Amino acid sequence: MASTSAPRSSLSSAASRIATAASNLSSDSQTLIAEIRKSFGIIKGIAVDLEKAQRSDKVKELENTVLELLESCDDCTNLSEATKNVGNNYQPSGQPTDFVKLLEDKIATLKEESPFVPHNNPLYRQFKEAIWNVHHEGQPMPGEEQEDIVMTSTQNILLNMTCPLTGKPVIELENPIRCMDCKHIYEKDPVMHYIRTKGQALCPVAGCPKFLQEGRVICDPLLRIEIEEIRAASTSNKAVTNVEDYTEINDDID
Ligand SMILES: [Zn+2]
Repeated sequence: MASTSAPRSSLSSAASRIATAASNLSSDSQTLIAEIRKSFGIIKGIAVDLEKAQRSDKVKELENTVLELLESCDDCTNLSEATKNVGNNYQPSGQPTDFVKLLEDKIATLKEESPFVPHNNPLYRQFKEAIWNVHHEGQPMPGEEQEDIVMTSTQNILLNMTCPLTGKPVIELENPIRCMDCKHIYEKDPVMHYIRTKGQALCPVAGCPKFLQEGRVICDPLLRIEIEEIRAASTSNKAVTNVEDYTEINDDID
């Protein structure tokens, strides 16, 4: 009874406590997602070794594990997003709130918007590609011979490789952040300044129709892991390029 006449200030502080708790829960899930992402990298490495050793039965087992892992990762992402959403939209009232139902509804909506389709999942494709390349380097994967499909192949998980505002390569950004809606990546300070000074901040990547909102452009834990992977890959590419350069110089001397 007393709760119906609770002063407005205590209701709004309840709302902000709920929002904070939801945001903490949501970032816990993000930590878990980052761990899953790291495990994926380890499993992929083991699978490549097994493929080299011609243990295709074991590779197949790992492939199934990867699928399970990625689906759990997807569930976890939805849970994290739903928790944050429910927390932010909670309005205190005299009636009890059915949080379980709110969460379940939000998760169902998110699943409907982007269902888990293994063959569209960039990490699953990356796994398949890594295995394929063990014995077929340079050849298109079966069913992906057409050029346009090969173009979307996923050596790069990151959507843009330079910050559209500063032109800096993403792997060199000090504080990379990513838009949760369009997944484009920017340097933090310039993009925050951009969002604050524009009334309606259209994503600065040419042709992107999404609008940026302060709370939805964040450094998700996956971003740093993904950037680190690209950085590692580009360092090894650079090593190869340097060898080529060196050969050219030698050729000149000859
Ligand atoms: Zn964008």
